[in-house]
Amino acid sequence: MQNPFENAMKQLDSVSKIAKIKSLNGGLIAQLRAPNHDIKISIPVKMDDGSTKVFEGYRVQYNNVLGPYKGGIRYHPKTEINDVKALAFWMTIKCAVANIPMGGGKGGITVDPKNLSKSELEKLSRGWVRGLSDVLGPYKDVPAPDVNTTAEIMAWMVDEFGKITKNKNTNEVKAAFTGKPIDKGGSEGRDGATGLGGFYVFDALREELKLPKKCKVVIQGFGNVGGNAARIFAEQGHTVIAVSDSHGAIFNESGLDIKKVEAHKKKTGGLKDFSKENLQTKNITNEELLALSCDLLVPAAFENVITDTNAHKIRAKAILELANGPITPKADEILFKNNIPVIPDVLANSGGVTVSYFEWEQNLKNEHWTEQKVFEKLRLVMEDASRKTLEKAEESKTSLRMGAFILALERIRGKM
Ligand code: GLU
Repeated sequence: MQNPFENAMKQLDSVSKIAKIKSLNGGLIAQLRAPNHDIKISIPVKMDDGSTKVFEGYRVQYNNVLGPYKGGIRYHPKTEINDVKALAFWMTIKCAVANIPMGGGKGGITVDPKNLSKSELEKLSRGWVRGLSDVLGPYKDVPAPDVNTTAEIMAWMVDEFGKITKNKNTNEVKAAFTGKPIDKGGSEGRDGATGLGGFYVFDALREELKLPKKCKVVIQGFGNVGGNAARIFAEQGHTVIAVSDSHGAIFNESGLDIKKVEAHKKKTGGLKDFSKENLQTKNITNEELLALSCDLLVPAAFENVITDTNAHKIRAKAILELANGPITPKADEILFKNNIPVIPDVLANSGGVTVSYFEWEQNLKNEHWTEQKVFEKLRLVMEDASRKTLEKAEESKTSLRMGAFILALERIRGKM
């Protein structure tokens, strides 16, 4: 398995060689090679059977030049500090690309949440906050959901944070976490914001990338991000021909009925057996899905899925990275040589953190915006970030990823 932090640093190496960044650097690249703080905690949890189990938790506060550290918390059995460091670095770049006044952070716990009861999960989540409460807060570090963490978990965390800090200003306590349930200070539209933001970015760049008005779309992943993206692309008249989950993928050349797929997943917990009831649909493997001929491939699951071993098999006309770090640097080079443009994660999936920032702002001002207002504001942010990324890429005759990095580094440097 490739180390995501090494991959992130290779991206930083590449951008540091671009003339515009060389001239502006002044220690910026050196500073971005390591996080400001990288914190590891032990979280003891009294399990339902009476035993005590100790879990490992993390918070990486990467950079706060632009504002409070911001980024999700991931619960995963394979999560370790190098993933969290890479993800926190990408959050730094992402917030700068979206031009929101937030820095980059990320957290995690090494755990398979499926093996915990609800009360164990709640104790673990509260324990994470207890271990880190000194370094969190609306003006210090604002966590949010990520893989396997939900609005409900954010609500437990806010509650715990309020109890520990005894802060009487409930607006400030709410603003310490984003991605909360609506009735606990969450924002309209936060749930589907990563998928929707990705669609707005795609829409803003579609003509430039010479993609047809109606695209054939393949989506890897059918969780919060991939599932919402599938629904939105289908609603907008594109044809989603394949989607996948951890068990495998389903494919229908003439388009999947996403509503039916969603209903099947809700009923059975996954995509497995969808093809049994829908005979036009075929089961394929995840590797086959990545190699399908289509207009747009959307990796929306995990890191390192497109590598130097499969990048040459990709037949998509363009890639929209809704996951964080799904393409390794070597694969990136292969795709660039093969003229397959990649809309990078730090732009493509920045809709989630953008609406998180809107949520933070609403909490601090004690406001609640309509879904329409959130979507309109999100579209403007995504369009502006897309246009500026493209300009930077064209100016330096480089990829969209490097364009996004140039944009971000210029913005961070400007505030140093
Ligand atoms: N976990 C999301 C991301 O990777 C959102 C972070 C946030 O809302 O702070 O961008």
